[in-house]
Amino acid sequence: MVDRPLTLMAVHAHPDDEATGTGGVLARYAAEGIRTVLVTCTDGGCGDGPGGVKPGEPGHDPSAVAAMRRQELESSCEVLKIGHLELLEYADSGMMGWAANDAPGSFWRTPVPEGAARLAELLRQYRPDVVVTYDENGFYGHPDHIQANRITMAALELTGMAPKVYWTTAPRSQMQRFGEVMREFGSDWEEPDEAEAAAIAEIGLPDEEISTWVDTTEFGGQKFDALAAHASQGENIFFLKMGKERFTELMGVETFVRVHDTTGAAVPENDLFAGLR
Ligand SMILES: [Zn+2]
Repeated sequence: MVDRPLTLMAVHAHPDDEATGTGGVLARYAAEGIRTVLVTCTDGGCGDGPGGVKPGEPGHDPSAVAAMRRQELESSCEVLKIGHLELLEYADSGMMGWAANDAPGSFWRTPVPEGAARLAELLRQYRPDVVVTYDENGFYGHPDHIQANRITMAALELTGMAPKVYWTTAPRSQMQRFGEVMREFGSDWEEPDEAEAAAIAEIGLPDEEISTWVDTTEFGGQKFDALAAHASQGENIFFLKMGKERFTELMGVETFVRVHDTTGAAVPENDLFAGLR
């Protein structure tokens, strides 16, 4: 028996990523009595401002956006019953190629060992049994997501690996369905050009390469409400337009690739804690 609660730590880049990527598992495992810890690396200052004002547009104030998103994040954590929220508070780097990538204090510009040392402190404090972050492509190529993967893997090297480590992923079969729903609900949806289509084709994995499929449909309502707490962000409004039922149908199963394991639990598995309890 362990002398501390089983613990799940999710490392995310921005306020709202916890809801889209892992809202289901965070809610489900909290309900099962597992301690949940969310580490959010950036302040989200490159997100949409009040009234939908985009970064770079007049009236976009990153520090005001960060303050608003901090409150949204806290509401989302309440909805998902996340036990511990830890903020690294790096400046949001914006999308690949933006000037914000190189701004002082940006997460992308932070040397990996520096970010990793801070995260390692949290790993030593919570000693999570399961750690979840993005894949090496940051799921879809966002610099802060790539950096979250890098500091997480480097921090785990420093502290010794957690028993199970996962990267979030999406099955290619679901990406196809996702495209269909985009066409249905995205009022300003445009067919991706060739380059965009190629980038989208790189997202996720073929179904047979996915090790872990966790059914969180029972918690779809909570995941939806967590995302609703981040309604200031344009891309979330797209999901909210679907309504809870369609949203849960599309987003109810969360998928991962297991990149480290000491339990020997057989794959494919349907539980991040398989072999640990
Ligand atoms: Zn993000």
